[in-house]
Amino acid sequence: MSPAHLLADERRRIEERKKRAANPYCMHCEEPEDTVEHTLFNCPFWAEDRREMEQCVGRPLRPNDVPDIILGPEQELLPDDAFRRRRIEAMAEKQRLAFGRMVEAILGRKEDAERSRQARLIYGG
Ligand SMILES: [Zn+2]
Repeated sequence: MSPAHLLADERRRIEERKKRAANPYCMHCEEPEDTVEHTLFNCPFWAEDRREMEQCVGRPLRPNDVPDIILGPEQELLPDDAFRRRRIEAMAEKQRLAFGRMVEAILGRKEDAERSRQARLIYGG
């Protein structure tokens, strides 16, 4: 590649970076600031991917649910009865797995979408 081409490439990359910095909004809705929290919990675009998790929890998922989901129930708060304890632990495990699937589905597809958007910006089409 010639130096002129290299320079043109670099200029384009800098323009891309500027455009991205000037456009922090969510690319899927009207949210002015795109954050992981917005993407995982609020963005209407990913509502379908949140459904299994919300069915598990029985309501919309909130950011402060995450520590409990990841860490599971506190052992000392579990009932003494072995059957009930196992049921609660099984439910917690189900939530943890559903949460993992949700995060993977949303962030994986979002990354794909961003990659193809950048490819469109750089190569046109
Ligand atoms: Zn959004």
